[in-house]
Amino acid sequence: MKNAKISVLKIQIGVLFFLAFFASFIWVITLSENHGRNLRVTFLDVGQGDAILIEAPSGNRVLIDGGPPSGKILSELGAMLPFYDKRLSVLIATHPDQDHIGGFPDVIERYSVEALIEPDLYAENGVYPAMEKDAEEKGIKKIIARAGTIITLDKNTTLEILYPEKKSPPAMETNISSVVVKLTFGNESFLFTGDLPLAEEKALVLKYGEKLHVTVLKFGHHGSKSATAPEFLAVVSPEYGVFSVGADNKYGHPNREVLDLAVKDKVTTYRTDQEGRIIFETDGTTITVSTGK
Ligand SMILES: [Zn+2]
Repeated sequence: MKNAKISVLKIQIGVLFFLAFFASFIWVITLSENHGRNLRVTFLDVGQGDAILIEAPSGNRVLIDGGPPSGKILSELGAMLPFYDKRLSVLIATHPDQDHIGGFPDVIERYSVEALIEPDLYAENGVYPAMEKDAEEKGIKKIIARAGTIITLDKNTTLEILYPEKKSPPAMETNISSVVVKLTFGNESFLFTGDLPLAEEKALVLKYGEKLHVTVLKFGHHGSKSATAPEFLAVVSPEYGVFSVGADNKYGHPNREVLDLAVKDKVTTYRTDQEGRIIFETDGTTITVSTGK
């Protein structure tokens, strides 16, 4: 039976940003679950916050953000993953705000995590020091996010960090330090921008241009007006977009103007507050979407 088969796979992280400087970390991990040849990306329903589970065809998993400290992340992961398999290869903390890393201490306690990728930014809030302490105690490798780092999940699935650049912004400017990653599998791709504001989106457009084009965009900052610059959305030009938001949130996310812009640009949108979990599954050629609470 395929699912029961034990295999070994290497995850390689290569820092490619200077040709003269090449560093790589190789982890050998044991796999016990493989859900076929598809890539599955699930926008988890964690209320007001972000949490995105990536499951590569190899069975390697990445969790981008862990939602708020409500316990929701554990029930969502429990709904998606087999109870006996607690592997999460990599956690990415896009930035140290509660609605993004609040659930990580729970995840670190219950799951087997190899590496934690985060911006170079210390936050004084209650969750960040707890997350750092828990990660250190568990021996989780901490990697500072830098544009140019490529995480190879298997031979067809890569995650590339596009932002931040070498130096992170000053402390406490959490949103502008948001880690931006592009996930690519065959012809299909995803872009995750955390809570990155408009000015930094525009800088990404100048730096990367067409490279920002993807099939699926996680709308920045939960659809706030502080993100999704028209020129950014025009270049990303996604077929699908997801708003990760809590029902009746006090911020009014997603913003009406951002919703209108998505309609104007013919982006098919989904909202976690209305549809629950948003699940994309692709074989690299075609993509399907399903939703469910
Ligand atoms: Zn947020």
